[in-house]
Amino acid sequence: MLEDKNPQRTAITELGEFGLIDHLTQNIKLYHKTSIKGIGDDAAIISGTSENQKVITTDLLVEGVHFDLSYMPLKHLGYKAVIVNLSDVYAMNATATQITVSIAVSNRFPVEALEELYEGIKTACNIYQVDLVGGDTTSSTSGLVISITALGEARSEEIVQRNGAKENDLLVMTGDIGAAYLGLQVLEREKQVFKANPNAQPDLEPYSYLVERQLKPEARKDIIALLKELKVIPTAMIDISDGLSSEILHLTKQSNVGCHIYEDKIPLDPQVIATCEEFNMDSTTIALSGGEDYELLFTVAMEDFPKIKGNPNLSVIGHITKESEGVHLITRANTKIPIIAKGWNSFKDSE
Ligand code: ADP
Ligand code: MG
Repeated sequence: MLEDKNPQRTAITELGEFGLIDHLTQNIKLYHKTSIKGIGDDAAIISGTSENQKVITTDLLVEGVHFDLSYMPLKHLGYKAVIVNLSDVYAMNATATQITVSIAVSNRFPVEALEELYEGIKTACNIYQVDLVGGDTTSSTSGLVISITALGEARSEEIVQRNGAKENDLLVMTGDIGAAYLGLQVLEREKQVFKANPNAQPDLEPYSYLVERQLKPEARKDIIALLKELKVIPTAMIDISDGLSSEILHLTKQSNVGCHIYEDKIPLDPQVIATCEEFNMDSTTIALSGGEDYELLFTVAMEDFPKIKGNPNLSVIGHITKESEGVHLITRANTKIPIIAKGWNSFKDSE
């Protein structure tokens, strides 16, 4: 047995998720020249042939932490588990090629349930054209755990990291934001209603987009194709899995820059606006701190603006500044508010 030489006990919450990763992975040595980029981006970069590099990323989903089977059908769960990984591959401006799938299951699940899970996994592989090439299966004493690793490839000059944003670049995001978080709130509310009255028939119609974004998210493979077509290579890119504020802070920190984001430019679906009003929530707060939208956030040089201008998939939400200017939201009332990390954090239950 390994002896615990350190009697000190520090709570994980003192560091938070990102602090914990930084702490555990400091001083990690890379022994191979082929490990072009290790820890710190949406995916690692491994050199392949002279033109092609590989990217690799992995994500872990744990029952009760990342999903609740009382409203998440297993087929959707399988689909989503693949999507969250592909999103990290696309965030490198790469093409996703293969995945491996590892699961830990308790005997509470019949074979039919796992067939459902794999239906979802295979559907995602089919739609996104990736090959399922391996994995591992083991038992679990509690819930279901799914770990997926995704591989991708791109020409080395096309790969985009989080650290290339430059002063005056434009900050661009795809699609709209906040819906997946609200979808979760709607599903949680219906779960409570159902607990109190199992005969209640939920009317989810007014929230259809929100629920779909939560239960059946998509990864922006189409944007990688669009950027190629427009001949735009972003200077930096990240996927929005943990909320806009958290991702903006990662991107600006790694690029050593600051930025201004304009509140009135943040793209919101009408259902997001209506539901925020109904739930008495501030839609900008939801956009900044929600999560699981799996859109892409990237920066482009000013000279590329004509190429992206007016594209319905892309919204320019701000611009990059000097690092010393900090990271700020410019509100509709034209006040400047510092952006703090309020993204989703699996080790903190109230933020
Ligand atoms: P993402 O949100 O894009 O999935 P994460 O925030 O999970 O990224 O991870 C940030 C970086 O830290 C990535 O490079 C990831 O591979 C790395 N990382 C996360 N957890 C660990 C760990 N336990 N050990 C080593 N590296 C890790
Ligand atoms: Mg990511």
